[in-house]
Amino acid sequence: MAPDVLLEQLVAIPSVSGGEADLCGHLVALLAAEGIQATRHGDNLFFELGASGPRLLLVSHLDTVPACDGWSADPLKPWWAGDRLFGLGANDAKGCVAAMVLAALALHKRTAPLGARCVFAFTAGEEVGGKGIQELLPVLGPLDAAVVGEPTGLTVITAQRGMLILRCTARGTAAHVAHAHLGENAVHKAARDIARLEALRFEPHLLLGEARAQVTMVSGGRAKNQVPDTCEFFVDVRSTPNLDHAAITAQVAAEMESDVEVYSDRYRPVATDCSEPVVRAALAAAGTQGGTGSATTSDWAYLAHLPAVKAGPGDTHRSHRPDEWLSRSELRAGAAFYEKLALNFAMMAYQEARHG
Ligand SMILES: [Zn+2]
Repeated sequence: MAPDVLLEQLVAIPSVSGGEADLCGHLVALLAAEGIQATRHGDNLFFELGASGPRLLLVSHLDTVPACDGWSADPLKPWWAGDRLFGLGANDAKGCVAAMVLAALALHKRTAPLGARCVFAFTAGEEVGGKGIQELLPVLGPLDAAVVGEPTGLTVITAQRGMLILRCTARGTAAHVAHAHLGENAVHKAARDIARLEALRFEPHLLLGEARAQVTMVSGGRAKNQVPDTCEFFVDVRSTPNLDHAAITAQVAAEMESDVEVYSDRYRPVATDCSEPVVRAALAAAGTQGGTGSATTSDWAYLAHLPAVKAGPGDTHRSHRPDEWLSRSELRAGAAFYEKLALNFAMMAYQEARHG
C-alpha cells in the first residue's frame, strides 16, 4: 500500500468524534485485504502481531475535532500541495494512524519471529474525553508498555501534563447594597482568592516546568443592587507528574477562602523513566537521547499504569487549526520510526530473556 494513498484515504473519510464508524470499517477491510485480522470493538479496532514476548501497545486515534473556520479549501476533501497533504485530521492524528498501519504491514511481512507482541489499537473519542481507549483497555488484556501516536515531530515525549479542573465557590451573605454592612460580598471574596491563585507557585517538574493554574470562568451575583451571596469560578491546572491531583487540590484549598471541589481529574499527568525498554527503544529509533515533556494531554493519561512514550509524525502546533497538513516525508519517517521502535523493543525483550 502506497503511503500517500493510505493517508489520503484516511483523511477523505470524515471521522469527527462520534462519527468514526466509516473510518473504522475502512481500516478493518484494508487490513483484512493485507492478511491482518483486526477486531472491531464499538468504533475502535485492534490487532496483534507476534506470538510471544512482552506486549507493546501502539495506539493512536481515529477521531478528529470538527473543522474550524479559515480553511482555504474543503477540509474533508484532502489535497496535495507539493509534498504536503492538507485536510482535517491529516496531522492529528491520521498521519500517526497511517504510519502505524504501514509499520504493522512491514512487521507482518517479516518472516523471522518478532520476539515481542505488538498490539495495534486505533480508538474513537480521543478528542472528547478518551471514551475509546477506556472501552478498549479491558478488552486488550495485560500490556507491558505503550506508544501513543500523536504529532510530536518524532520527538520522544516521556512526560505529559495532566489536567485538573477545580470548581470553587465563594459564599457570602446577601444584603441591599445600600446596607452592605449587613452582608458579606461573595464576589469580593472570590476576587481575593483569584489574586492568591495568580501568585500560587507549584514545585516545578524537571522536563515540564511548573504547573499552571488558570481561572477560566467566573459567575456571581443576581441583581445589580444586591450584595452577592455566591460566586463560582473554575480553575484549570495543567498538572505535572511530580505532584498528584490530590496534592494540588490540597495546596489550592489551603490558600482559599472559597470552597474547593474537584470538577474533573481524569487526565492524569504521566511520566516514564528513561531506563524503561520502551523509552530506550523509542530514543534509539528516533536517533536521539533523552526524553522531552509535552503540554498537551492525550490517551496516554489512561495508560498511567504502563511505561509509555508519546511520539509520532507531524507537529502539535498544526493541530485543531485551519489548513492542517502532513508531508509525505514525515509520513514515511513516521512509519520507519514505529517499525524500528517495535523491532528495538522486541530485541531488548529477546536479550533480556536470554540473559535472565
Ligand atoms: Zn491527537
